[in-house]
Amino acid sequence: MAYDNQNIFAKILRGEIPCDKVYEDDYALAFNDINPARPVHILVIPKGPYVSMDDFSAKGTTEELAGFLKALGHVAREAGVTDTGYRIIGNNGAHGHQEVPHLHLHILGGASAGPMVKRVEKL
Ligand code: AMP
Repeated sequence: MAYDNQNIFAKILRGEIPCDKVYEDDYALAFNDINPARPVHILVIPKGPYVSMDDFSAKGTTEELAGFLKALGHVAREAGVTDTGYRIIGNNGAHGHQEVPHLHLHILGGASAGPMVKRVEKL
């Protein structure tokens, strides 16, 4: 999928619309999800124009990839969820139910995340 620079997270990165920012560095921006599913629900996005994790891993530089992962861990530690635990979710493409076509990882914590994923009847 080609990157659409009009997606909402691209607009947030350009400062065209606001976000509830919790962290920013050269590689990543983290902000609170507008519709939180747990007491802690933070989205971490890379600064570059990547649609999905496979897109990012194919096109991102080693520095960008490392910087993004570093930021993700930093945000989890700062959010205070590392002792009690947390879940990282990355939705990619149609079957992943990705709504916003700019790579983002959800950090969910502050309460149990529950079962990993609802099981379908037939695999
Ligand atoms: P998904 O693409 O399905 O992984 O999820 C997109 C997430 O982005 C949802 O959890 C939304 O609540 C969240 N979201 C959409 N627009 C905004 C926004 N402007 N600020 C913060 N979170 C947002």
